Amino acid sequence: MLEAMITAQVGDDVYGEDPTVDPAEQHLSWRRLRAWKTACSQRPAPRPTPGPVEPLSARGGIYRGQTAHTYKYEAGGGVVLGSIQLLSPWILKQTAPWTWPKWNDSSSRMIFYFARTRLFCLENTQAGKVLPMDYLKDARKLADRHGLGFHLDGARVFNAAVKLGVNVTAITTLFDSVSCCLSKGLGTPVGSVLCGSREFINQARRWRKMVGGGMRQAGILAAAGLYALSHNIDRLADDHANAARLAEGLSGIEAIHVDMDAVQTNMVHARIDADMTALMRHLAGQGIRMSPGNPVRLVTHLDIETADIDRAVAGFQSFWA
Ligand SMILES: *Cc1c(COP(=O)(O)O)cnc(C)c1O
Repeated sequence: MLEAMITAQVGDDVYGEDPTVDPAEQHLSWRRLRAWKTACSQRPAPRPTPGPVEPLSARGGIYRGQTAHTYKYEAGGGVVLGSIQLLSPWILKQTAPWTWPKWNDSSSRMIFYFARTRLFCLENTQAGKVLPMDYLKDARKLADRHGLGFHLDGARVFNAAVKLGVNVTAITTLFDSVSCCLSKGLGTPVGSVLCGSREFINQARRWRKMVGGGMRQAGILAAAGLYALSHNIDRLADDHANAARLAEGLSGIEAIHVDMDAVQTNMVHARIDADMTALMRHLAGQGIRMSPGNPVRLVTHLDIETADIDRAVAGFQSFWA
């Protein structure tokens, strides 16, 4: 990857002249905010056709908007920089039982005191869990019925595709816009890609400019991204196998409670009955660094080999031995 970055043909991407940045499809994005801001500022969709409202949470039960990355972990960027109020289904359920159509209805039935909903976002994978295809298709119908844009936070969408055994486009074509991290499982030093219609991307470029996201020789990063997209997707299955191996190994330890249902891709969530500070110190002594937190999140990636998994499991075991 480094080789590809060093040898990349570059130009000035602020002028659209960097030959390694495919302006239409490999668009590097530093702020998903732009996706929201763009999607939320588009002209109101045509009036939705009336129809029954379905409670999303009743489907599959794994959509947990209140734990979405963009809701929880981005310093409120959507609100602060985009004037976008984020609503989780949890909040919607507290305030009104799924009255989206009314919220968006600009005719006499409109309830004027609600924020107008413009965009419906899903995250896939979320906390390492995959949203099933049927769920995504139902969600698309829901978005259409209510005239909402449909955006995927696909930071780890390739993990989902590999797990489901589908081409990633089977997932992404269901959405109007998709963001995807090149820097997580795909292993680039930085970078996310925003995909959508040409018109959408053109608007996003304006927002990018506004938040200071222009980069000149962006080809250096695009080269890393292109390398990742052509070398590091299929191998995500290795990360998934390693996570399963880690989960299996850790669940053999009495004091560790692994959420086995959640072990679907490259993440393992485990609750540990131990003095975590002592455990972290013990592991550190063996060259294993663990983030604080309990339940703890353990993530496999392209720098972790199967032998490392076995070493990690042995490291945990020795704490109680
Ligand atoms: C990391 C992450 C993001 C943010 O990605 P950036 O590359 O910082 O834009 C968004 N959503 C999820 C689920 C993530 O894990």
